[in-house]
Amino acid sequence: MSIQGPLEKMLTDGNDPVAYQLPVGDDVLPLNELIGQGLALDFLHQISCCHCRAISRKSYGGGYCYPCFKKLAQCDLCVVSPDRCHYHLGTCREPEWGEAFCMQEHLVYLANSSGPKVGITRRGGEQQRWRDQGASQAVAIVGAATRHLSGVVEVMLRRYVTDRTEWRRLVSTDSPQVDLMGLRDELQAQLPELPEGTRWLDGEAVTVIRYPIMRYGKVARLTLTPEQDRIEGLLLGIKGQFLLFDHGVFNVRQHRSYHVRAETIAAPIEGDPQLEMF
Ligand SMILES: [Zn+2]
Repeated sequence: MSIQGPLEKMLTDGNDPVAYQLPVGDDVLPLNELIGQGLALDFLHQISCCHCRAISRKSYGGGYCYPCFKKLAQCDLCVVSPDRCHYHLGTCREPEWGEAFCMQEHLVYLANSSGPKVGITRRGGEQQRWRDQGASQAVAIVGAATRHLSGVVEVMLRRYVTDRTEWRRLVSTDSPQVDLMGLRDELQAQLPELPEGTRWLDGEAVTVIRYPIMRYGKVARLTLTPEQDRIEGLLLGIKGQFLLFDHGVFNVRQHRSYHVRAETIAAPIEGDPQLEMF
């Protein structure tokens, strides 16, 4: 089995465990069934912009060419830091895109990825977002009328809870369970008054997410570069947007728009689960 083309971030479905697919060009590689087998990724020394398809020497902003990175609203700083939304100043790079993407209900959530963290997402996209982050538990805690307002609340909550995930911990261990509802109640006690257009949510259920992981491997970052253009190894599992190999982890999202050839290979003998069993 061998497919090639530009890489997209992994598609996810379900939570027990998450079912993963790897989009490569026009094809999609179902990944869960490959766990315990050998997988190789070859960089074909080409990157094409995920927006305009232009060939780019480097990837900017996670898969864009430089002109798109400078021009598109979706690549602006305010997408990562929505509290800095500048739509009201009339300086949104693409006001129509901003209206469709940002001016709709968002959620502030608590998740347990490498530990408790706070984050925001568009309402309706939360399950996918949590899976992309490798969260094992998550719950929406605040509803906000716009992306900007969710960002304002997130900044307020960051005084008490980090918004960061420690990737090394994420890819090396199952995070111990966290009492997210207890944490939510503590935060509400700290901040009973929220800005207009936002509100504390009640009665949201905690989502529990399980990942297809046989075991964890070595904590080392595997990246594709012109010099290091092949990654191959035993696929041990998948968590968030990471492929967990025996000798390191590969962040698929970070390689969006990279042209690759993905192929199944004979599993390396060492660490082969089939052999260990007998
Ligand atoms: Zn482009």
